[in-house]
Amino acid sequence: MQAETNHLMNLVARPGAVMVRGQGSFLWDDQERRFLDFVQGWAVNTLGHAPPQISDALFRQSRSLLTASPAYHNANELELARRLARESGLDRVFFASSGAEANEGAIKLARKWGKLHRAGAYEIVTTVNGFHGRTLATMAATGKPGWDTMFPPRVEGFVKVPFGDESAVEDAIGPNTVAILLEPIQGEGGVVVPKEGYLRALREIADARGVLLLLDEVQTGMGRTGTLFAHVRDGILPDVMTLGKGLGGGVPLAALVASERAACFARGEQGGTFNGNPLMTAVGLAVLDAVTAPGFLEGVERRGAALREGLLALAPRHGIREVRGRGLLVAAVLETARAERVRDEAFELGLLVNAVRPDTLRFMPALNVSDDEIRAMLDLLERALGRAR
Ligand code: PMP
Repeated sequence: MQAETNHLMNLVARPGAVMVRGQGSFLWDDQERRFLDFVQGWAVNTLGHAPPQISDALFRQSRSLLTASPAYHNANELELARRLARESGLDRVFFASSGAEANEGAIKLARKWGKLHRAGAYEIVTTVNGFHGRTLATMAATGKPGWDTMFPPRVEGFVKVPFGDESAVEDAIGPNTVAILLEPIQGEGGVVVPKEGYLRALREIADARGVLLLLDEVQTGMGRTGTLFAHVRDGILPDVMTLGKGLGGGVPLAALVASERAACFARGEQGGTFNGNPLMTAVGLAVLDAVTAPGFLEGVERRGAALREGLLALAPRHGIREVRGRGLLVAAVLETARAERVRDEAFELGLLVNAVRPDTLRFMPALNVSDDEIRAMLDLLERALGRAR
């Protein structure tokens, strides 16, 4: 296979390797080179590559029903919606195929709610360096510098405030505001963990000011941070939560989950050909079963702590300034902007890591990564850090 001369739109710099096969924490290219994978589909492969639970679910479901169309119910979507509602404490689910699509739905839902309950208010307060997707509206909601002017005219109605500062949110809320939208931990922003109490403060502000709290848990949800949803640790309930990535464990599945009070779409206002299709929701059920099995989340917590400790042990010798994150969403901030060099050296050594910022490496292994694989990763990373000096 020729990766260099191909017919894909050229949208991102990638190594020449062509990936052909995966198993657990390992990925192989077409030259039979093996990589220890701490990217895992970009925090997607909850159970690693080719987990038996998912291949079984896909195989079994594919032999009975691929799709019945969204015009009819299917058993898997009903069951997954019921389970997500029960696990989250929310009430209503709309399934989608990507995080951006789920967030686009959340934005539409908030605008509809504003029309019904807040005299047509439509503005949504979002955060600087937040990430919500690549549709026109979710790009406008995203706080990456330059993204709001990339494809003019931009979708209006998003106000940006610094992440982690609840008084900035308070000040940004006016009569036109309908919601606050943010990630519990900013993933693409560099695994930025807000100070204790931030989400609780936002919950109180949203209640006091009569606006909705929308949490984008596309990256942090489904056990990634050691609790089923990141906000569980804060002891709050959002009005709306979006899930993606890990929910499908490697297949395209996302969800918009809302309280009864917020779930105000009328018939015809939201939909999509593939939403809730039985093939993807069969996988969602298999993933949810695995993540909610006794002891699973404690294991994520424990291995996340081991990963952070291991990185901290490398810190003094290898110019790591800070290690942060929760569960198995972890970042190491370097003293200099050499994250891409470290990533490239690691690749040559057979390790996949992500350079989320010029000075920051991100680690998002399978949630069932083993202690040995974490140790092997730290050894390879140490060599890569040394070579990228
Ligand atoms: N929200 C968050 C927090 C994300 O991290 C991402 C993807 N990185 C998205 C939304 C968009 O998801 P997708 O790429 O599936 O559209």
